Amino acid sequence: MKLGRVTLVSGIDTGVGKTIVTGMLAHQMRERGQDAITMKLVQTGNVRSSEDLEQHRLLMGGIRFPEDAAGLTAPQIFAYPASAELAARLEGKRVDLRKIVRAVNRCAAAHRHVLIESAGGLFVPLTSRKLTIDLAREQGWPILLVTNGRLGSINHTLAAIDALIVRKIPLAGVIYDWAPDVPPEIDRDTPRAIRRFLRQRGLDVRVENVSRIQIPEPRPPVSSTAAIAYDRSRIWHPYASLKDAPPVRLAQSASGDEIELADGTRLVDAVASWWCVAHGHNHPAITGAIRRQSERLSHVMFGGFTHEPAIRLAHKLADFAPRGLDRVFFADSGSIAVEVAVKMAIQYQHAKGRTRRTRMLSLKGGYHGDTACAMALSDPDGMHTLFAGMMPKHFFAEKPRIPFGGRWHEDAAASIREAVEAHRDEIAGIICESILQAANAMSFYHPAYLRLLRQLADENDFVLVFDEIAAGFHRTGPLWAHQHAETPRHPVTPDVMAVGKALTGGHLTLAATLASGKVADTISNGTPSAFMHGPTYMANPLACAAACASLDLFAQSDYAAKAKTIETSLRRGLEPARRLPNVRDVRVLGAVGVIEVERLPARTEIDRIIDTTGVWLRPFANFIYAMPPLTTSAEHVNRITSAMVGLARCPPGPPPADGGFHE
Ligand SMILES: *Cc1c(COP(=O)(O)O)cnc(C)c1O
Repeated sequence: MKLGRVTLVSGIDTGVGKTIVTGMLAHQMRERGQDAITMKLVQTGNVRSSEDLEQHRLLMGGIRFPEDAAGLTAPQIFAYPASAELAARLEGKRVDLRKIVRAVNRCAAAHRHVLIESAGGLFVPLTSRKLTIDLAREQGWPILLVTNGRLGSINHTLAAIDALIVRKIPLAGVIYDWAPDVPPEIDRDTPRAIRRFLRQRGLDVRVENVSRIQIPEPRPPVSSTAAIAYDRSRIWHPYASLKDAPPVRLAQSASGDEIELADGTRLVDAVASWWCVAHGHNHPAITGAIRRQSERLSHVMFGGFTHEPAIRLAHKLADFAPRGLDRVFFADSGSIAVEVAVKMAIQYQHAKGRTRRTRMLSLKGGYHGDTACAMALSDPDGMHTLFAGMMPKHFFAEKPRIPFGGRWHEDAAASIREAVEAHRDEIAGIICESILQAANAMSFYHPAYLRLLRQLADENDFVLVFDEIAAGFHRTGPLWAHQHAETPRHPVTPDVMAVGKALTGGHLTLAATLASGKVADTISNGTPSAFMHGPTYMANPLACAAACASLDLFAQSDYAAKAKTIETSLRRGLEPARRLPNVRDVRVLGAVGVIEVERLPARTEIDRIIDTTGVWLRPFANFIYAMPPLTTSAEHVNRITSAMVGLARCPPGPPPADGGFHE
């Protein structure tokens, strides 16, 4: 059955079993955990004292219609058993259709499914001007048609279906009951004739016997436990198997730095929901902006249209971006922003007539996303080796060896210089995560690498792309991580920069690729002049509005200071981990704290620590790390570091079968 939120159950005649069908359907749906309520469109015939009413109530599962004191399940009741129009007229009244529609809508707002039993058939008059079918058409209610196997039923049923087709009213299904006193040949012929007719009219609609009504949807969740069991068997989670799926927790709401679960447990979100929740969950300034925007324009294609949120966001981004990066391409996720950056680099070289320059130089130990092009730029020995066969081949220099704060020496540049030397004519651009290699290595490298890459890009006219998707927006302290490499007299500005994650403060998916005038103009002067990319949801207005509100928050207070405060607490709190046997290194930069271990504890230990400390951690590979919202309170940062140290204290677990790259 193709039931709508509201479905009108109508019969081809009175007495065909509408009430039974409505009640059975609702009963079955509720059995399966679906929230269904039934009501009558209008009730005619004074049934208040009759057995009918009792039966009706029983079938309806004892549901009381909210506004009727008598407990009847109809918004309008008339005593005389006739058409609603006549029954009302005999009482000197009119059927109030507005009242009926209001009542239906109120039920629909409170319940997942509303099954309305019509009074009689589709052509029964409700008022002197409107028939039941007219109301159904106006309201867009699909019809579930109830029929039986009596002589004459085929005629009535096909006529009713035809009337629906003519009026473009959807038919949710046809249900027939056996008729007790007709020969079985006739009885059985009814569904056959109906199915044939539907086929001929090109309608894919089910025709079922009442005894075999089946709600076709799989059993939906009825409790948290059932919900989670369902989830684990049917829904893929990031980097997870559907067989022996790892545990998931049922999140219900979130605010500030906490996530609340269905059972009321609250967890401090030490990973800012994958590093994007910068200002805290459900920040009222951002949710308010989304709500206001949704009342005007939720989406419009960006081909041929523009809108105020996109223009405002472009302005704001240009203010935030390094000087000169004032051209913007809006992408729907970080991975796409990276793909766009690479296409820009290649199109730039193409426009300059260097058609052999189609590859990127990237650094090992990096991560740039999960789409094909972004995977191909990520560490070649990391989590994407399975797909090596289909990925474009790029060039890699060795993973930056000299850590942030370490002593720079020129040897560290050798691998990068060699790659450039060997492949100069094939390299379109260089891409790296600035300073923070996050999802692959959880490490901070020396800023001199960025200065070196800038110099090599200048010497060879490579497009230099900084991926600031994880590190941007104060995650490592300054607004952009590459600012660690700058002095007032020596800016290290990329030609293209990808931003994402915290852009909307973790409220909607949006990323952006920012380009310099030089790159944009070169592409625009080439052939093709158009930049060849354009996702369906490009510059979605809701996401742009969220990002504008998020950038306003960044502008309104000192986030560098917030990151510094968190850095101080992380340093102090994680220090004791250094002495633990399973720990290789402890490092902190800005609002990123990492304990690198020999081997992660077993899954059960990780869950035990999460449950006992109330801190949500998501360790991967060899890393127990925190990247909390930048607004996390000092007290909560302390809870986070104790939980991390507690976890580092647990015995190492079994070696992971798959490298453990579950970021
Ligand atoms: C998360 C991330 C991406 C990918 O962003 P998605 O929005 O997950 O596609 C790319 N680069 C870096 C550095 C990231 O951290």
